[in-house]
Amino acid sequence: MDPKTEMAIRIACYAAAFAALGLWEMLAPRRPRSIERTRRWPGNLGILAIDALAVRVLVPTAAVGAAVLAAERGWGLFNLAGMPLPLAAILGFLILDLAIYVQHFVFHHVPVLWRLHRMHHADLDIDVTTGVRFHPIEILLSMAIKIVIVVVVGIPALAVLIFEVALNATSMFNHANVAMPSWLDRIVRLFVVTPDMHRVHHSISRAETNSNFGFNLPWWDRLFGTYRAAPQAGHSGMTIGLPVFRDPAELRIDRLLTQPFRDDDAKT
Ligand SMILES: [Zn+2]
Ligand SMILES: [Zn+2]
Repeated sequence: MDPKTEMAIRIACYAAAFAALGLWEMLAPRRPRSIERTRRWPGNLGILAIDALAVRVLVPTAAVGAAVLAAERGWGLFNLAGMPLPLAAILGFLILDLAIYVQHFVFHHVPVLWRLHRMHHADLDIDVTTGVRFHPIEILLSMAIKIVIVVVVGIPALAVLIFEVALNATSMFNHANVAMPSWLDRIVRLFVVTPDMHRVHHSISRAETNSNFGFNLPWWDRLFGTYRAAPQAGHSGMTIGLPVFRDPAELRIDRLLTQPFRDDDAKT
């Protein structure tokens, strides 16, 4: 696939998911907003623009390009083994999703990496834009890890593209402030991480922050014992964010970018 078509598919999926979830948030919000959108959205969307630019400029071929190269040169386990495309694609998708789960767990438990990931958690409310709020250094590190996995395993380019588009969409979905009937949530979370499941991960309570690491498939949390069904204070009563960076001035883009390099300023 030529890069322009690939980029067009990505942007169209991004825009469609964002518009649909934004509309759903307006029509059926899960929780009342604790902070106006005008204070959070410029920073969160500004970060999205910087992330997109950083990846374009620094790793222009990105993970899909790495997969194409690995296939051409015969690199990676799946290419060496001559694995049939459908099997390689399904296994590749699962391996990438597991890798993102493990990476997320590690970013919570290694202090220097937590400094980078902490910015995602410092959002004082949670909605569709929180799903794209990741520090550019975390995004670049994450891309480098993904490229290594794609090349070592030999994951087909199509699986990488589907995985990345799916992950962008599910990340926006599971951060969205949308109400779903509880019976529907119970069914959907058997297959995909739902907003009620991921919101637990944004609780100010440390035990809850360190649970529900999955972004896409919900199975890894259940398998590795990091699953938590609901926040103790309830979805309406829970506090979103961290004990640090609670000043609304921290929602500004310049503050977001410098958070990893500043010590905790919590008075808690
Ligand atoms: Zn996290
Ligand atoms: Zn999150």
